[in-house]
Amino acid sequence: MDNNENLAVLHRDDRIWDGSTFTYDNQFAHRDWGPIKVPTVLVLNRKTGRVLSNWGANLFFLPHGLTIDRRNNAYVTDVALHQVLRFNLNLTTAVPDLKLGEEFTPGRMVGRFCKPTSVAVLASGDFFVADGYCNARILQYTAGGQFIRQWGKNTFTGQPLPVTPANYFAIPHALTLYEEPNIKPQLCVADRENGRVQCFDAYSTEFISQYHSPVIGNRIFSVAYAKGNLYVVNGPEIDQTSDIYHEVKGFVINMTTGEVTSKFGPTNINMTSPHDIAVTKDGSEIYIAELENNHLFKFVAGNGTNKPMVPVTNGEYNLTIIKFD
Ligand code: ZN
Repeated sequence: MDNNENLAVLHRDDRIWDGSTFTYDNQFAHRDWGPIKVPTVLVLNRKTGRVLSNWGANLFFLPHGLTIDRRNNAYVTDVALHQVLRFNLNLTTAVPDLKLGEEFTPGRMVGRFCKPTSVAVLASGDFFVADGYCNARILQYTAGGQFIRQWGKNTFTGQPLPVTPANYFAIPHALTLYEEPNIKPQLCVADRENGRVQCFDAYSTEFISQYHSPVIGNRIFSVAYAKGNLYVVNGPEIDQTSDIYHEVKGFVINMTTGEVTSKFGPTNINMTSPHDIAVTKDGSEIYIAELENNHLFKFVAGNGTNKPMVPVTNGEYNLTIIKFD
């Protein structure tokens, strides 16, 4: 959501990420394609689904995550560029006012990223970067872009571990902040292939707690926070021969009890690869972006009749409004 309460959606036009996208050493294999030429960010009216404006043409090669902070700065991670780019939406979307990482140069040292996935921004303006597909670490920066610290170790083996220690990640894929008055803020990380959300003290970065449920399964793609709850989307189990079947859905986790209190999804279509989730501050509206079919779903808190209400089509996006409990 931007500062006008509109919904901003990031997409990659016709670019897909497959086995030929990167070389064995994580270099983007298609630099000659140039940046994506169409606007990659669409700003939608949340009620009508109508596109109000767009930006982000000729900037990104394979953008992955979009975060807008309370000062109307937009942070985009690009896994091909191995960079994080920040745009002041009040000034211009043509050029970033901050660039972190070295263009097309993956790395583990501070100053480089390797396929960074997501950004979360504290009220102070300090921000965190999840880095990402290869490095499995979180980095913290000042609002001005000065490196503060980093943590996290890689456990990505392609298979979830039976017990994974705290501070280890298998693709930290999305970030959200648990910020409430009179409570120390927490940074919560969708630890994707470990199927859990890990939460850390956002000041000291000490591990606080983790959320995992057999109901959700072993893959959690994204996480968002509102009103004491974590909202997550899972993904299909990698081990298809497993006799444990997990539906691909959205879930609500109560942070106090750790219990899954709600499960929701569209009734007229099966989700296969939900990639990102967003929720309004009051928890009344949830948005899910799905990679596979270019779907954007909106769920509104309602009476549980769970019927599709207003399908709206916007170019390649289908916005379906569905009630959930
Ligand atoms: Zn991803």
